[in-house]
Amino acid sequence: MLQTEYIKITEDEAGDAALRRAASHLRAGELVVFPTETVYGLGGDGTNAEAAKRIYAAKGRPSDNPLIIHIASPEDAEKYAYTNKTYEKLAKAFMPGPLTVILPRREIIPPSTTGGLDSVAIRCPAHPVARRLIELCGIPIAAPSANLSGKPSPTCAEHVREDLDGRVSMILDGGESEIGLESTIVKIDGERLTLLRPGAVTYDALCMVCEHVTIADAVTHRLAENERPLSPGMKYRHYAPSAPLVLLAGERDHQLAFLKAAQKKEKCAILCYEEEMPYLDGERLLCVGSANDLPTQAHKLFHALRDADTTDADIIYAHLPPMEGLGLALYNRMIRAAAHTVLQL
Ligand code: AMP
Ligand code: MG
Repeated sequence: MLQTEYIKITEDEAGDAALRRAASHLRAGELVVFPTETVYGLGGDGTNAEAAKRIYAAKGRPSDNPLIIHIASPEDAEKYAYTNKTYEKLAKAFMPGPLTVILPRREIIPPSTTGGLDSVAIRCPAHPVARRLIELCGIPIAAPSANLSGKPSPTCAEHVREDLDGRVSMILDGGESEIGLESTIVKIDGERLTLLRPGAVTYDALCMVCEHVTIADAVTHRLAENERPLSPGMKYRHYAPSAPLVLLAGERDHQLAFLKAAQKKEKCAILCYEEEMPYLDGERLLCVGSANDLPTQAHKLFHALRDADTTDADIIYAHLPPMEGLGLALYNRMIRAAAHTVLQL
């Protein structure tokens, strides 16, 4: 058990001194949790096989599930992967930002970081604390989301503490994650892109930059028992609260009527829209924002799932989001948290 140090990162000398200390921990092969604009990351030296093993152990994550390498500037990708024209186009349009690309791996990144794959996932985060930390390290930082495997990704330092206290050297508190959902992941094959995980860089936005974009089946569908996913992480149950989550589909007023009736007969937590608040009982009620406000819903989803788990609910209900725009990312996370349980009303 480690003594985990918590530090609120401020934009002054003290903040920078803390980041320098964090960087030296990382260079020494230790683990540091840092904020990004998507979710919090559990960082270790991306070029160090031992650090990768520590990350897997701290998360309780299977080691065939590859890690994302975080870089300080888009040009650095070339040091760790074989980039191409398509990468340059994507970098120009979306980096720094919530986009991860998968490219052929260079030798400097060990196979233990990439779950044994010949490819590597790379992202240049936009969050100033993350960028400064990577710059100070001078090495790429391998970082999955800073939650225990199977739990919702953490969007604030308190959630990281719940999961990783005593398992990492430092936790850098940078406030709430702005986006709240993990990065978009695309695999680059020449001029073609495969969307492996939807995020704040949407399918439509990718299509504006690249002509050939396909969405991997596993984004919206359950994989068959023997099917091999393009992205190893897709086969694991994810983002799951402890109580079963059931998603509601169909007419909005049918959904509201169902929820009102459910509150009378069972101990349920509800992830509801702001517009529904006046019509529902306040107990175990968690507002995720206005029905049409997808960015706010994304920002609040993981927090709400964790909050739902702290109630005595036997079941959690939420609305199935639309599959368009940022809705696809919400849909992908929620359908997996619900193990594909959808009630059509
Ligand atoms: P997380 O670090 O929790 O955001 O999850 C990272 C996800 O990125 C993994 O679960 C994989 O699904 C995906 N990933 C990372 N590297 C690769 C790769 N080389 N090929 C395919 N998918 C990858
Ligand atoms: Mg994760």
